[in-house]
Amino acid sequence: MQNRVPKTCKRCGKCCLADANAYITDEDRKRWKKEGRTDILQMLEREHAIWAGDHLISSENGRYLHGCIFLAYENNQYVCKIYETRPKTCRDYEPGSSEICPQFRK
Ligand code: SF4
Ligand code: SF4
Repeated sequence: MQNRVPKTCKRCGKCCLADANAYITDEDRKRWKKEGRTDILQMLEREHAIWAGDHLISSENGRYLHGCIFLAYENNQYVCKIYETRPKTCRDYEPGSSEICPQFRK
C-alpha cells in the first residue's frame, strides 16, 4: 500500500471557477438555515453567475466574476469568503485530485 502525501492548496482559485448554484445542494442550504447564515442564502437568491461569452458576470450588477460568487482575491491569493461553512462539494475536494488543480500529478 502506497503512502499518499496530502497536497497543499496553493490558493490559486482554479477549482472555484464555477457557478455556485451548480454544486450547492439542498443539504448545504438546510445547514446554512440551521446555522443562521441568511447572508449566504440571500446572496444565492439574488446573485448567480451568468456566462457572458468568454467570462462570468454577476446577475445582480454585471460585475466581473472570477468563478464562484464566494471567491475573493485578498493579499495576493484567492480565498473563499464562506470557508468555515463552505459547501460539502468544496470540503470534499482534495488538492491535486483532478486535472483542474495545478497540484495534479498522474
Ligand atoms: S485548484 Fe488546487 S491549488 Fe488551486 S485553489 Fe483549488 S485545491 Fe488549491
Ligand atoms: S464556495 Fe468557496 S470553496 Fe466553494 S467554490 Fe466557492 S469560493 Fe470555492
